[in-house]
Amino acid sequence: RKGNVIITGASSGLGLATAKAIGETGEWHVIMACRDFLKAEKAAKSLGIPKENYTVMHLDLASLESVRQFVDTFRRSGRPLDALVCNAAVYLPTAKEPTFTADGFELSVGTNHLGHFLLSRLLLDDLKQSDYPQKRLIIVGSITGNTNTLAGNVPPKANLGDLRGLSGGLNSLNCSPMIDGGEFDGAKAYKDSKVCNMLTMQEFHRRFHEETGITFASLYPGCIAETGLFRNHIPLFRALFPPFQKYITKGYVSEAEAGKRLAQVVRDPSLSKSGVYWSWNSTSSSFENQLSKEASDAEKARKLWEVSEKLVGLA
Ligand code: NDP
Repeated sequence: RKGNVIITGASSGLGLATAKAIGETGEWHVIMACRDFLKAEKAAKSLGIPKENYTVMHLDLASLESVRQFVDTFRRSGRPLDALVCNAAVYLPTAKEPTFTADGFELSVGTNHLGHFLLSRLLLDDLKQSDYPQKRLIIVGSITGNTNTLAGNVPPKANLGDLRGLSGGLNSLNCSPMIDGGEFDGAKAYKDSKVCNMLTMQEFHRRFHEETGITFASLYPGCIAETGLFRNHIPLFRALFPPFQKYITKGYVSEAEAGKRLAQVVRDPSLSKSGVYWSWNSTSSSFENQLSKEASDAEKARKLWEVSEKLVGLA
């Protein structure tokens, strides 16, 4: 039978390119989990993804209720789940004030981490039940959360501190909208959320890999400088960032190439190792990359898991 993969945020950028790369193989059905149904349908059509190989389902990660509804709708479709890709993200580098999810969490961490945390925890059962030979849960990471790299050292740096802001509910009422309890900073909130994504992947691996055989992995697909992720940045940045990445850092990668990379992590038998953070070198060969000290801190991963469970209503 065909494999079934859910990709969040498949209406643009990396998620859409991955939906195309996987959808056109004919071996998979892609469930595009998106907040804007029409945008996703149009995007899938314009890229020519064969109609029989995808379904758009509504998911707004900035609402825990919507995450639960999505899981119900997916289950009612009767499809088994063989792979889940947590890809969607928001990035608000120029925001002066925090904005919040339906449940009152700062928007970047609330969407990128907490929404995906609940989604992947609920869908773990579905992955367990699948009889597909290789089952995978992939969470898209980023170099910017890794302070062991040049890009990760551009201020403001990611830092989760002792999670006091997260424990306080990630809003300005009780404590702070930032995980470490500091002042709001949109760029830092995004980087923090990516550290959470990478810690979550490793905690899944430690807790469930042996028992379930599911592959848990993360990746940095390269700098896809032209995606919608930078839509909220100032125009000068948006004009200069792609050539800077192409010619100076040489980290630039096209959406199509990044989509092929993520598709490999979903379905390539040679990338089935669990607990790995994948990256690609200049000749587009994959390798197991090192995470920063904070992004591989097992104690922090455990604490993040426990605090997140409480916030999303699982504990
Ligand atoms: P895009 O902005 O193009 O894509 C982000 C997607 O997330 C969009 O489809 C967007 O939907 C969706 N999304 C945002 N908020 C929600 C929500 N509340 N509920 C459901 N979906 C939502 O950015 P990219 O393709 O660049 O980003 C994809 C992933 O790649 C992210 O995890 C990002 O961190 C990661 N990444 C990107 C890099 C880059 O250089 N671009 C580098 C490293 C990692 P909509 O279309 O409705 O806005």
